[in-house]
Amino acid sequence: MSKKNNKLYRICDALGCELEGIYPAPKSREKLNEYCFFCLEHIREYNKSWNYFEGLNEVQFEREIRKATTWDRPSWKFGTKRINDDYKFIFDMFQKDRQEKKKPIDKELLDSWKILDLKPESTIKDVKKKYKTLAKKWHPDTTLNLNKDNKKNNETFVLITKAYEKIIKSLTEKTI
Ligand SMILES: [Zn+2]
Repeated sequence: MSKKNNKLYRICDALGCELEGIYPAPKSREKLNEYCFFCLEHIREYNKSWNYFEGLNEVQFEREIRKATTWDRPSWKFGTKRINDDYKFIFDMFQKDRQEKKKPIDKELLDSWKILDLKPESTIKDVKKKYKTLAKKWHPDTTLNLNKDNKKNNETFVLITKAYEKIIKSLTEKTI
């Protein structure tokens, strides 16, 4: 709790944030009836990081937020061990989310984009189109072979096929 104009208010549960914690957020999927409270910025970050509201459309989301802001908030005794543990859970969750975002770059995937001569922003459609063009060019049985050395053609074909598969896999995983 903090004091503003001599009025007690709950501070945002995000680490180091001094704003008022207005928006309740479930502590976990398993504890949907237990909440921590965040300011607007942090409830957004929380929702983004947790994707709890991912399946909701705009109207549903607004309704959820409105519902959340009018709920009776439980009165907690701050500074107790239980609350501190709850904080730790939330902080760990934010921390975990940040670490996941900092995943090391997949070098093999980067190389795959280079092999297909495409930008990582390309769509699956772009990738498929490009692969088709390259496969036609490099397939060992094609008459379009750039190289008379069939072993080399085959190697190139295998290389672009591997790159293609790697990229398609990464793109479909992203959209799940
Ligand atoms: Zn905050």
